[in-house]
Amino acid sequence: MIGRDLILKNTGWVVGNGESINIWEAPWLSLEEKRRPMGPPPLAQLNMKVVHLLQPNRQDWNIEEIRRVLPQEEETILSLKPSKTGAPNKLIWLGTTSGEYTTRSGYKTALKEQNANLEDPLATDINWVRYIWKIETAPKVKLFLWKVFCAALPVGSNLAARNITNSTLCNLCNTTESTNHLFLQCNFAQKVWSLAPFSQSVDVRGLVDLASCWHSLCTLECLPPSGVSGQLAPWILWGIWLARNNLIFNNKQSSPEEVISSAISAAREWLSEQVKTPTLTPTPLPRETRPPHTTVVYSDAAWQADRRTAGLGWTIREDNSTTQRMSHCYFVASPLVAEGLALREAMTDYVARDTRRLHCNTDSLILFNALKSGTPIAELYGILADIISLSSAFEHFSISWIRRTYNKEADALAKQALLNASVVPAPYRA
Ligand SMILES: [Zn+2]
Repeated sequence: MIGRDLILKNTGWVVGNGESINIWEAPWLSLEEKRRPMGPPPLAQLNMKVVHLLQPNRQDWNIEEIRRVLPQEEETILSLKPSKTGAPNKLIWLGTTSGEYTTRSGYKTALKEQNANLEDPLATDINWVRYIWKIETAPKVKLFLWKVFCAALPVGSNLAARNITNSTLCNLCNTTESTNHLFLQCNFAQKVWSLAPFSQSVDVRGLVDLASCWHSLCTLECLPPSGVSGQLAPWILWGIWLARNNLIFNNKQSSPEEVISSAISAAREWLSEQVKTPTLTPTPLPRETRPPHTTVVYSDAAWQADRRTAGLGWTIREDNSTTQRMSHCYFVASPLVAEGLALREAMTDYVARDTRRLHCNTDSLILFNALKSGTPIAELYGILADIISLSSAFEHFSISWIRRTYNKEADALAKQALLNASVVPAPYRA
């Protein structure tokens, strides 16, 4: 039920053909948050749909109509790029760029909501990603660290806070066993830290609060003879925790020397098992891939953030000739949308002609992957739907990803188109 409420609270519409989206009732203005126009609507506009804000041929927004109905949302609406080929609207999850729900993004959203409601949010001064999840250490140790910093480790003070135990004392020195005491302040812990083979000496008396010194403990490097090339601090915490449990549950006392040497050997053993797998880079296709009688298009975009304007350029290579084309577009939200627009424009240009076989080249890997694997991207939804729809008009259609260095001509055209685009968008000219 929590999941249902979470999803209901964080879904929105991405505009395809705009039919059936009531402009006042459905959240359709943003891909990041649930946003709809502010009401109350005039009676005559009560049942208005998004499609009524498009031009009759549905190729673009109807600016006069937007100004009449929702003048305050003009720029927001113009930044949305609906489908020109009538793709249906799509309900999306607002927490991911794909618009698809994942447990991971659901958890993140729920946590954000929960933290917003807490007076004292969970330790936010910790960089969780960098100093917990991205540390090079065993997954079990990461999970353990996460528990340490969430106050979820069953040390005396945490158990007492949950009314689980009466004895909250450290088994070695009869002081309250808190996370900070166990790992830093207890004499035993201080001896362990002082024995660690760090290249820089650690002033153990300065170690008071684990959350605030964790970043610096993680960056300590070990002296080469120890054989530990990565971080040792996580393994020290892990070692202290094992020693503490061994004492409580097995009545076995370990020495600080034993703790540090087992931490070192555990770190070394784990590091030696990590085989670096080479990262795969996509192989670019050879420079010219032109099957016989196929028209080849190279498209590219240039985007200027402060003007939110895109220059679009494409070249067309046919059997004996090369044609250069350019265009521009205003209210473009990102460089990725610009790349999508460039490809769509180039294809639209060609559908009208008598071309049966088309091969397109783009240097946008995200765009290429989205088309190849069908991975959804919310901000490209209408454009991708159009590209797929346009591609079916050809007898043969294919697309490749090429390196930017092979796309210089289209790139230059796109840059030129951006320069040509007037500073004031056409609809604003007096
Ligand atoms: Zn103690």
